[in-house]
Amino acid sequence: MTSISPPFQSVTVIGLGLIGSSIARSVREAMPGVRLNGFDVSADVCDRAASLQLVDLLAEGSEAAVSGADLVILCVPVGAMAEAAISIAPHLRPGTIVTDVGSAKGLIAREIRAALPDAVVIPAHPIAGTENSGPEAGFAGLFRNRWCILTPEDSTDPADIARLVSFWDALGARVEIMDAARHDLVLAITSHLPHLIAFTIVGTASHLEAVTEGEVIKYSAGGFRDFTRIAASNPVMWRDVFLANQEAVLDVLGRFLADLGSLENAIREADGPALFDWFSRTGAIRRAIIYEGQDVAAPDFGRQKQ
Ligand code: NAP
Repeated sequence: MTSISPPFQSVTVIGLGLIGSSIARSVREAMPGVRLNGFDVSADVCDRAASLQLVDLLAEGSEAAVSGADLVILCVPVGAMAEAAISIAPHLRPGTIVTDVGSAKGLIAREIRAALPDAVVIPAHPIAGTENSGPEAGFAGLFRNRWCILTPEDSTDPADIARLVSFWDALGARVEIMDAARHDLVLAITSHLPHLIAFTIVGTASHLEAVTEGEVIKYSAGGFRDFTRIAASNPVMWRDVFLANQEAVLDVLGRFLADLGSLENAIREADGPALFDWFSRTGAIRRAIIYEGQDVAAPDFGRQKQ
């Protein structure tokens, strides 16, 4: 991280939940001279953001929020991106870069572009988060050593892309440029499908009458607990992600169900070698993730005990 020559002098964060408040905290830490404006549609979130002193100006509306900004970051749920973009449209000054952090890109990028036909729009997605929401959940180090994917249009000025790359770089992220459709396919398998599986398995366990709730909790360390962490994620966020990335999710879900069917057959036919081969290959993927620094090899997936 560096505090020299920030790429933007005035940054506005729209939506002050987990991601927005983490960006605000990170900007404060990495770029102390930068002016920070914030806005959230929720009066309660605004009150909490004020007591946390997340930004220099907590605006009462979109106009005051984006006034003077040279970077505006939309950190609202995917389903609220279009509305947030429409509300800032009349108030942006020429040359302001508008970006977002939405977990799906193709549809959202098109919606933001439609709302802001003349603006510099560079969609983005930091691959960093937790199962928690709200301004208290954010922290400055959230993006450190995590990927942030930018999905600019072909016509975007490379100088504008370079400024946004520098911004994420200053927050400690590793930046990758990608086509929006590719982003949506990659994230469908690495993030969206795992969340869908976690939501399913935890829901199934809660419906399973043969296993009491007490036993599910008592013996949860057998693997179930890790699913419950993911399945505790924000329901608004994940409803919106599945609706916004419908096509890619249905594609990878189809492949997953076919593979699940193969494993079901291997179990039914007591095909030990097939099960062993499959489970050996997946261990190699875990080792590759640790090698890439995206997790640590400590037991319990590296998470600290509370
Ligand atoms: P969050 O903690 O729920 O924060 C979102 C905030 O935006 C809420 O305070 C919400 O208020 C507010 N909001 C909704 N509509 C708004 C509008 N039109 N104008 C201004 N504020 C508005 O959610 P989050 O986890 O930070 O997620 C924000 C975005 O980051 C999502 O697009 C998500 O896909 C993306 N993302 C999330 C993660 C993650 O792990 N959580 C990771 C990477 C990217 P209300 O609650 O009153 O609606």
